[in-house]
Amino acid sequence: MCDNLSALIQQMGSDTVYVSKMSITSFLSGKSFWDLMKRPNLTEADAKASGDLVTTAVAHMGRSLDTTDLREALIERADDPHWDDVGERCLTCTGCTLVCPSCFCTSIDDVTDLSGERWERWRVWDSCFNAAFSYIHGGSVRASSGSRYRQWITHKLGVWPDQFGTAGCVGCGRCITWCPVGIDITAEADAVHAAGTRRAHRPRPARNPAATAVQGS
Ligand code: SF4
Ligand code: SF4
Repeated sequence: MCDNLSALIQQMGSDTVYVSKMSITSFLSGKSFWDLMKRPNLTEADAKASGDLVTTAVAHMGRSLDTTDLREALIERADDPHWDDVGERCLTCTGCTLVCPSCFCTSIDDVTDLSGERWERWRVWDSCFNAAFSYIHGGSVRASSGSRYRQWITHKLGVWPDQFGTAGCVGCGRCITWCPVGIDITAEADAVHAAGTRRAHRPRPARNPAATAVQGS
């Protein structure tokens, strides 16, 4: 019935729209999404245009982030008063997580029809800024807005490298642009960073050996 899937891809930062067709057979054969999306007719002009976009984006970067020992600072200062300070400003609107290209949190909704004969399970976008996201028996693990911000930034900049071998932030700045109260991830990271790892040293969580191998390769 469906031999081909049509995919529209909007190239970010340009007006170019690519239309690609891929066989559902190859889709199911285990090829990666990127294999299927490769454009065999990429021209030098395309490559130059792509490179120019990256160069332009880099030239517009107005902020930087020192990541030296940042992971340790974030993890060791989990109960730092700074998180209360952020919590007083953060509205937990979830905006930063909705615009972030690397946020992927989801939750599961089970729904039934009125007869109870049909039910569906949906995976839906969610955010670690929602109180219900960390709800377990008896209540939310992260009840305060400060604890939710701490969770978000610590995962992005502290724990992602352990899990995936890279930071969970690509530096796009969308969360800064769209935050209604002007919270800036680089400023919050710097604030924690500036205090360093001055607390009495605690044993660090073990790094994921697989991720470490990726980092070292
Ligand atoms: S700057 Fe980092 S955390 Fe903020 S939206 Fe971009 S990738 Fe996500
Ligand atoms: S966009 Fe700003 S106010 Fe909204 S949850 Fe993120 S940090 Fe908090």
